[in-house]
Amino acid sequence: MKISTIAVIMAMADEAKPFIEALGLKRAVSAFDSRLPMEVYTGAVEKAEIVLVVGGKDRRFGVDNVGTQPATLSAYLAIETFKPDLIINAGTAGGFKSKGADIGDVYIGSDSIRFHDRRIPIPGFSAYGVGSYRTPDVDAVATALGLKKGVVSTGNSLDMLPEDRLMIQSNQGVVKEMEAAAIAWVAELYQIPMVALKSITDLVDTDTPTQDEFLKNLNLASETLQEKLTAAVDFFAGSDTPLPGDASPAL
Ligand code: SAH
Repeated sequence: MKISTIAVIMAMADEAKPFIEALGLKRAVSAFDSRLPMEVYTGAVEKAEIVLVVGGKDRRFGVDNVGTQPATLSAYLAIETFKPDLIINAGTAGGFKSKGADIGDVYIGSDSIRFHDRRIPIPGFSAYGVGSYRTPDVDAVATALGLKKGVVSTGNSLDMLPEDRLMIQSNQGVVKEMEAAAIAWVAELYQIPMVALKSITDLVDTDTPTQDEFLKNLNLASETLQEKLTAAVDFFAGSDTPLPGDASPAL
């Protein structure tokens, strides 16, 4: 089957802005129930329709809806409303200097996407907690676009507890962020292929506090993300659907 509709899911308005401008996407105000904060933008490239879902603002706290719950809801709404053939979760992330990451590098999730903060030491539940949602084979797109590849690791905190660090290590994670595994779970339920594209705002294994680095580099990383995301959309539009990941544990 050819990819004719691509859903892009992003958490933060600042991450999405350069992509909205580059593709000239238009706000679709009544796509979802008006009580929900998610924002929808639509448009097209030559060979596919594009729908972008951004998390929107929390009504009480006035900040972007980051993390796994909004990401899950965005994925569900995007799938039920627009029936995409491919989901791309694009955003910013922390990288590891020790694994060769630099600020502004763009990674594509490969092999599997995992949780690092769901520790459930009960038989059967440990592996469930980690999730290990398989990614499609991304070698071709990574080579064509000059993307780094690696396991994306998801948790609901910007900081990194020692327990998280150990989990990321044992998961062979190289990209640390807050949404991808949640979206991968929904994509797996619906058997829709999903890829994660993550631009590095901060290096989590250096001395600079993550939040300072994040805010300093958010705009730069969002620009490099936009370039690679636009190229990825063109790469996948009209191409054959990559095989969705299966549910077996990866690695
Ligand atoms: N202090 C920021 C909060 C953003 S939360 C602000 O006020 O704007 C961080 C967002 O960027 C999440 O969507 C997450 O996916 C991503 N992210 C970037 N670097 C990260 C890191 N080191 N760890 C976890 N998530 C990170």
